[in-house]
Amino acid sequence: MGIIMANLKYGIMGGTFNPIHYAHLFIADEVKNIFNLDKIIFMPTGTPPHKNNLNIDAFHRYTMTKLAVADNCKFTVTDIEVLNQDVSYTVDTMKRLKSLHSDIDFYFITGADAILELPHWKNPEVLLSLCKFITVNRPSYGDDLEHKIKEITDRFGGEIFLVNGPELSVSSTQIRQRVKEGKTIRYLVPDEVNEYIIKNKLYIE
Ligand code: ATP
Ligand code: MG
Repeated sequence: MGIIMANLKYGIMGGTFNPIHYAHLFIADEVKNIFNLDKIIFMPTGTPPHKNNLNIDAFHRYTMTKLAVADNCKFTVTDIEVLNQDVSYTVDTMKRLKSLHSDIDFYFITGADAILELPHWKNPEVLLSLCKFITVNRPSYGDDLEHKIKEITDRFGGEIFLVNGPELSVSSTQIRQRVKEGKTIRYLVPDEVNEYIIKNKLYIE
């Protein structure tokens, strides 16, 4: 009788993370625990470079994400999309990840708003064949989210799991707005992220 080894299960938490905040970290940890994931990989999206070729914006978002996860050995950050000079489509990124790590099962983690956009992403049916999705319910997406998710898998196949987390209504938009207005964002983001934003004068205009 041989020893059967189960595949490793990694969660991929994609986002702009402009900046990363405690709701991102909370849902990643919640999903990790519920689905028994071995690791969560935070994957900041790239931004197509503007006139100069130096993408400050992506660099800051990536650095803040690194700072935010540094104290959790189950959390890591990948620069796979940040380093891409073009827009990265999730399906292409997942193809790359699967070809590099064919023995890992990937679970793409999203909030409710992001999963409802899935039909507009590139090749949803291919993407859903490469990884499973885990969606955490977000404020105001309430009751018919389950129904809407079923419509997506009926159309494209694959599996999307829905988790009802506590509703944390913090968003990056709100944080950028608060910084602009000179309000505190302490307790909305990790201290290291708060300090980084202040030191680099991010979001003040
Ligand atoms: P923005 O306000 O700029 O849209 P955001 O706070 O929504 O930013 P994103 O980087 O766009 O953050 O989101 C990354 C992922 O985290 C998405 O899947 C999004 O749905 C999810 N997410 C963000 N905030 C929350 C929240 N408060 N509760 C649950 N999921 C969230
Ligand atoms: Mg968003």
